[in-house]
Amino acid sequence: MAQPKYTTHHGMVDILPEEVRKWQFLENLIREEAEKFNFEEIRTPIMEQTELIVRGLGQMTDIVSKEIFTFSRGDDNYVLRPELTAPVVRAFVEHRLDQRGGSQKLYYIGPMFRAERPQKGRQRQFHQFGVEIMGSSDAVADVEVIAFMIHICNKLGITNTTLKLNSIGDPESREVYKQALKAHLKPDYDKLSDVSKKRYEKNPLRILDSKEEEDRPFIETAPVITNYLSEKSVSHYNKVKDYLGDLGISFTEDPYLVRGMDYYTETAFELISPDLGAQDALAGGGRYDLLVEEIGGLPTPAVGFAAGMERLFIACEELGIELGDGKKVDVYIVTLGDAARKWGLAQLSKFRDKGISATMDYMGRSMKAQMKDANRENARFAIIVGDNELNEGKFTFRDMKESKEEALSFEEIMEIIQM
Ligand code: AMP
Repeated sequence: MAQPKYTTHHGMVDILPEEVRKWQFLENLIREEAEKFNFEEIRTPIMEQTELIVRGLGQMTDIVSKEIFTFSRGDDNYVLRPELTAPVVRAFVEHRLDQRGGSQKLYYIGPMFRAERPQKGRQRQFHQFGVEIMGSSDAVADVEVIAFMIHICNKLGITNTTLKLNSIGDPESREVYKQALKAHLKPDYDKLSDVSKKRYEKNPLRILDSKEEEDRPFIETAPVITNYLSEKSVSHYNKVKDYLGDLGISFTEDPYLVRGMDYYTETAFELISPDLGAQDALAGGGRYDLLVEEIGGLPTPAVGFAAGMERLFIACEELGIELGDGKKVDVYIVTLGDAARKWGLAQLSKFRDKGISATMDYMGRSMKAQMKDANRENARFAIIVGDNELNEGKFTFRDMKESKEEALSFEEIMEIIQM
């Protein structure tokens, strides 16, 4: 066949029916488990004002400077949402969710958009699920968020992950650290990669995240942020580690772990999988105690994470974990002739009303072709109907697995199927 004229955009993929099953499985799992943790779902629009994302994530971040899909209509500037923390915070402020009382525990599932260079585990439209706990500065909230992230992975059977943990402290501690980091890098500035040179003035912490070989030696010898934390930040970080220990959640401290958005404060974490190749992060998150205020709300401490759903599927595949059942239907009505088709159509709803899935042929095919189709659809039972069967009120009822047939009335058939 000739190449199709229309295709998806680079880095954007169709999720075809065979794959949708595993998506539904994961989405159902997330919803069920989120309920157990008492998280409530929130859904926000796919588009947000550009200003919100720039302000929320930070002008100098990779996402804002290189990866947002932007467009305008009239005087309004929009982006396709690249992540959901800033939009959830916007909704929290806009709808005064703080007035509901207590801390708000929210979760979301949905597509995000980033114009990155596509590769395995990196798409331009991808899906995340995540949670946000808003209104608590207690380390218990950090640990509940991390516990939920790991709980979902465990439920899927992904247990070989590493939780990387760090504290990037409050803005004051971070400022002192930035100066120390710049002082450390300064003598070797000329040897840094071009990207790191660019980050040196504007966002030096991001240099720690560099994947460039030439930056390695300077990162490995860099001062560590945990030595620059205020007493309060140290105390919070210690509590997080203590509570994680109580829950038996193991972690590796990584003092060079910095996250991609400017809104993070205090706790930062990532969940890494050895099964993902170069893009090895399954999920990431942290505290963002200042973002609500930054976006116009009252001071509200908060913590959350987001996990990449495509990456969870890659890890499952590598581990040989199959998600979701195959295609199947309870009843396939094989019809021969117009009267039988009319009868079949009317019976479909009787099955469906009783919670039994049912289908029939829509293409006027031969009995052989319809039986083949019933097999392909993985039907449990087939009912074969022609003019004779209609006249006699007895239909050929076939158990597809046992390959057994008998002539039965419709009521008898219904009774067997409902057993
Ligand atoms: P972030 O919002 O950047 O902290 O990312 C959270 C998680 O989303 C990552 O750990 C990945 O699992 C996933 N993710 C981020 N960007 C992409 C992408 N372009 N394609 C697929 N998954 C992604």
